[in-house]
Amino acid sequence: MERSIMKTIILRKGKEESLGRFHPWIFSGAIHHTEGGSALEEGDLVEVLSSDGRFLALGHWQIGSIAVRVLTFKRQPINQAFWQKRLSAALDVRRCIGVAGREDNDIYRLVHGEGDNLPGLVIDIYGPTAVIQAHSVGMHVCRNELAAALRETMGESLKAIYYKSETTLPFKAQLGQENGFLWGESDNDVARENGLAFHIDWLKGQKTGFFVDQRDNRSLVERYSKGRKVLNMFCYTGGFSVYAMRGGAELVHSVDSSAKAIELVDANMELNFPGDNRHEAFAEDAFRFMEKTPSYSSVATEVVAPLCGAVATSSGYSKDPSRPKGDLEGLYDLIILDPPAFAKHKDALHNALRGYTKLNAKAFEMIQPGGILFTFSCSQAVNKDQFRTAVFTAAAMARRKVRILHQLHQPADHPINIYHPEGEYLKGLVLYVE
Ligand code: SAH
Repeated sequence: MERSIMKTIILRKGKEESLGRFHPWIFSGAIHHTEGGSALEEGDLVEVLSSDGRFLALGHWQIGSIAVRVLTFKRQPINQAFWQKRLSAALDVRRCIGVAGREDNDIYRLVHGEGDNLPGLVIDIYGPTAVIQAHSVGMHVCRNELAAALRETMGESLKAIYYKSETTLPFKAQLGQENGFLWGESDNDVARENGLAFHIDWLKGQKTGFFVDQRDNRSLVERYSKGRKVLNMFCYTGGFSVYAMRGGAELVHSVDSSAKAIELVDANMELNFPGDNRHEAFAEDAFRFMEKTPSYSSVATEVVAPLCGAVATSSGYSKDPSRPKGDLEGLYDLIILDPPAFAKHKDALHNALRGYTKLNAKAFEMIQPGGILFTFSCSQAVNKDQFRTAVFTAAAMARRKVRILHQLHQPADHPINIYHPEGEYLKGLVLYVE
């Protein structure tokens, strides 16, 4: 089918309103009919008109509830020059916020979908390698043009472009897409974040290979780590753990159910702190790990003088020889909870909130008086207030006195388009537990 002949979508009466507010999505229910001869093909560039024939936008069409992702509200050619202009604007933002063009930091998100006016597209930079991830069929169709535009934008600093969209495109579209290099090749998988080195697994890893969105929150963990016993739950490749080590933690335990992730944590530790035995990693289910850790209420009645807030370090409660070494001293005094999205859709909201409450209640039970809890939700379907209520319920269940010290969110290289509030997804709380 010829894709160069532009097809036209006519909206139902009154359905152009959200476009007037520059919202970049058109839902399938808003469409009245299509013009342009042949049938629409997923990934087609379409022109969108109001019911009275006014031009509204150009965007990519695909089957699903979000039928069109808007690229522009102006009539203009969508070609390499268009992509290049958008990519350069995105790079300017990353320079402005100070994550690009630095010696000690070459990991950052260059394109964050709607947040950079490029719906359906993610590009992460890992040193000389860019990883492109398409979340829409339209961006998949344009991948080579995008790669060419990216090379122009990044210049000499870029040596390879990897395409990783096998799991992010609709299966039913039958695109037969495979992960692989679109241009160049690189076997150097080490890149830097705030002076710390990380192996990036763009071949097999989650997302584009690394969780770029926790950079600023990791720096905050570093500030609180001195002399603390740190537990990093859902650690993936150990980002928070490596920062805690640099911050002077007394010990750091990293837990993830994926054995592959734990291998990467160990490799990242070796890269930054070779031979340092303050760190230990466990390939284990988070809930199982937490079940085996003593709780504040049991320790408090047996060995803690609750009024002065001191935990006895001598024996006094059960020492399970199968438990990790730091555990003999009992509770942790800095815990990070960064679980995967519990609710991928609104329908799963209720169960997700219960999940957050259960998880956080357990963490409140495992933390020393004077301890710090970093707790996150990356579920877009759970809003800030709902998350805070889930954590509040958990604190009450554990009967701990809790203060909110910081309210965290996604970093500036994951910007939110002001017309697309749905782009806000990461939220976190830093809590002081008395
Ligand atoms: N904090 C990480 C990102 C966490 S992503 C970072 O900064 O890079 C969520 C992680 O939770 C994934 O690595 C996944 O393997 C792990 N996970 C999912 N379910 C789990 C469970 N039940 N127990 C432990 N880990 C789990």
